[in-house]
Amino acid sequence: MVKEIICTVCPRGCHITVEGDNGKVNSVKGEGCKRGLDYATAEFIAPVRILTTLVKINGKENELLPVRSNKPLLKEKLFDCMAEIKKVSVNLPVKMHDVIVKDICGTGVDIVATKSLN
Ligand code: SF4
Repeated sequence: MVKEIICTVCPRGCHITVEGDNGKVNSVKGEGCKRGLDYATAEFIAPVRILTTLVKINGKENELLPVRSNKPLLKEKLFDCMAEIKKVSVNLPVKMHDVIVKDICGTGVDIVATKSLN
């Protein structure tokens, strides 16, 4: 299996080609530095993303609370996590960094507020 990955670690945006099978990397080509090599290897084996979204606020139909995961989540878990977050609504006030959903979908990652709202 061959995967083309654009490195997002720095603005240079190297196009990196990773070849491997069953979660094992056989070769990496095109990286500009060791950080890119590590990024592309991790993306090939288990891609992760920071999840950012909005949460409903009780009693406020026209306002939403911005939230994000406090650590990257496995890409394959994002849809499940979004479904879980969709069920949530918060009461104000909320402070930035308050935990809105603890251990989302058993991932060990928390969803936290990125803004304070009164
Ligand atoms: S591989 Fe290195 S130089 Fe290239 S985009 Fe990634 S961090 Fe930047």
